[in-house]
Amino acid sequence: MKIVVCVNHVPDTETRVKVASDGRTIDPAGVNYMLNPYDEFAIEAALQLKEKFGGETIALSLGTDTHKETLRKSLAMGIDKAILLKDNSVRDSYSVATAIAEELRTQSADCILFGKQSIDYYNEQVPGLVAEFLGLPSVSVVVKIEPRDGTVICEREIEGGHEVVETKFPLVIAAQKGLNEPRYPSLKGIMSAKSKPIEERIPKPVPPKVETLAMHKPPPKQPGKIVGTGAAAVPELVRLLHEEAKVI
Ligand SMILES: Cc1cc2nc3c(=O)[nH]c(=O)nc-3n(C[C@H](O)[C@H](O)[C@H](O)COP(=O)(O)OP(=O)(O)OC[C@H]3O[C@@H](n4cnc5c(N)ncnc54)[C@H](O)[C@@H]3O)c2cc1C
Repeated sequence: MKIVVCVNHVPDTETRVKVASDGRTIDPAGVNYMLNPYDEFAIEAALQLKEKFGGETIALSLGTDTHKETLRKSLAMGIDKAILLKDNSVRDSYSVATAIAEELRTQSADCILFGKQSIDYYNEQVPGLVAEFLGLPSVSVVVKIEPRDGTVICEREIEGGHEVVETKFPLVIAAQKGLNEPRYPSLKGIMSAKSKPIEERIPKPVPPKVETLAMHKPPPKQPGKIVGTGAAAVPELVRLLHEEAKVI
């Protein structure tokens, strides 16, 4: 089985992201990056599929040389090889998905795994777009994958429960938290990742269809208000919650 897992390089959740002076992009200065957390579930799923059915696992990322860090982590977790689609142009979900789909057309993978979303731009569009471009079935927010007699049973997380669906390989799966427990890279994995190949390709430029006009932070929170102490403060507190905050 050939399994490709698409991984993104995103700002570390501890990083205080600042808007750049152009007001339209993120200021990269001082930002630490990491492997997108949802993509770790996708990597673990790829490794488990390989352990069960044999074959090859490939990590694929679109971005600048900095994405190699994330690809190395994927290799350290156990992925066999990596591909960097090296690009620094302005891209939206459509142009990111177009470049990924173009590479995947040359791979003929049985299973293409994604995280359910990138925790930087939160678009949740790339997996579905790639599936559409390739004409493949697509299952999102997946918390269980069970290949069975030529079919694949997936469980999806929906409001208040799980939905069970049946489809076939080749397919696109977007992983949700809970799909598995991603393994930590072992020392051996970290050492061997250094010698595993990262192939580089230059994707075709694709103009974005959506342009970012502005980015801004939410307004600072108003300071808290002390309405009094003890039981005597309750009527006023209830009034404010009802009339001002409108939460009761
Ligand atoms: C080269 C480049 C230039 C960009 N330029 C701009 C810009 O100028 N302005 C701006 O606002 N945004 C820019 N972006 C961000 C871009 O718009 C978003 O990354 C894109 O819309 C994808 O949306 P998302 O990150 O929210 O992905 P989602 O759809 O939420 O991601 C879902 C899954 O898709 C996969 N995935 C997503 N991105 C990648 C990737 N790059 N490589 C491999 N797998 C991936 C991962 O598995 C991820 O878990 C750029 C991104 C790239 C790669």
